[in-house]
Amino acid sequence: MVCSRCVMDDTIPDFHICENGYCNYCNEFLETRATHAIYEKDLKEKREDFINRMKQDGKGKEYDCVVGVSGGVDSSYALYLAVKNGLRPLAVHLDNGWNSELATHNIANLVQKLKVDLYTHVINWNENRDMQLSFFKADVIDIELLMDNAMLALNYQMAKKYGVKYILSGSNFSTEGMRIPQAWNHNKYDVTNIRSIHKKFGKIPIKTHLLFSSIDKVIYEGLYKIRWLPFLDLFEYNKKNALHILTTEMGYKPYPYKHYESIFTRFYQGYILPRKFNVDKRKVHLSTLILTGQMERANVLELLKESPYPQKETEQEDLIFVTKKLGFTEAEFNDYMSRPPIPHENYGSELWLWKIIKRLSKFVTLKKF
Ligand SMILES: [Zn+2]
Repeated sequence: MVCSRCVMDDTIPDFHICENGYCNYCNEFLETRATHAIYEKDLKEKREDFINRMKQDGKGKEYDCVVGVSGGVDSSYALYLAVKNGLRPLAVHLDNGWNSELATHNIANLVQKLKVDLYTHVINWNENRDMQLSFFKADVIDIELLMDNAMLALNYQMAKKYGVKYILSGSNFSTEGMRIPQAWNHNKYDVTNIRSIHKKFGKIPIKTHLLFSSIDKVIYEGLYKIRWLPFLDLFEYNKKNALHILTTEMGYKPYPYKHYESIFTRFYQGYILPRKFNVDKRKVHLSTLILTGQMERANVLELLKESPYPQKETEQEDLIFVTKKLGFTEAEFNDYMSRPPIPHENYGSELWLWKIIKRLSKFVTLKKF
């Protein structure tokens, strides 16, 4: 059963149709939207205030803010807007060995045109490969937890290093507003989960891999007062317009779908998630675009009929590339794909701690803007 307003459906564990005939996902999204910053009348004022405050706090420092860039539209545009609004950002990138050539081109091109310093952290491939393989062996859904967690660590560490209080991220309500179903990923601060899975299945010790725990979040936000901000929410963000500006002004080259700047993400979202976990992440992104009037529902339904891989050749190429790079034999990979998923919670976890922090943070949370 598919919701008649968005494209979420009953393959999602906590999906249900509410009294008004629409699903809990789009109802929740529209409720949140009504109270959201981007729709406030004084958005422009708020934006100017906030940018001025960042400039003020940046006085005497090398940078005003840190912007994490992946090569995707959202983070590229956040960097673009930071510069266009007179901020002095440090661009930070985590090179996990899976960048598509296009992503590398886009990042290099962007920082050069915007005259921004770029700090790239290159991960230790042997360690990372061992950790990724252990996540495969564990049969858990969120293999990207490793990279997302390392990204958090990198951004916060760089902010602290330069005494910067603001991390501007490309995450935004306009295109990512609908919440990702809980069953589709795992808490990004659960370092205990990472360690526990790696301890059980890994072969080499973790020495250099960046990690960022729930406690780290408390320390960096509470003690160093560093804030992670959805910067694009201060603007009337429209992805199509952003892409147009980036392509025409910055020589940016677009990707066929969101998050396809990394070969691993492309393979994970286009192949592993649909086939092993029965999850098509496009549904959430595209539903948000429908609800914000950026796409027609009929067009989205057509789009979803197509494979998450736009070209059959890319799929085969990526399959060979990814399995070879990780060191899987064909039989091993087929075995992985046929095994049933196992919940993250079956391994060690600090979710209990996260829940306590969440409850307590109601009293101490830093104001967003
Ligand atoms: Zn819906």
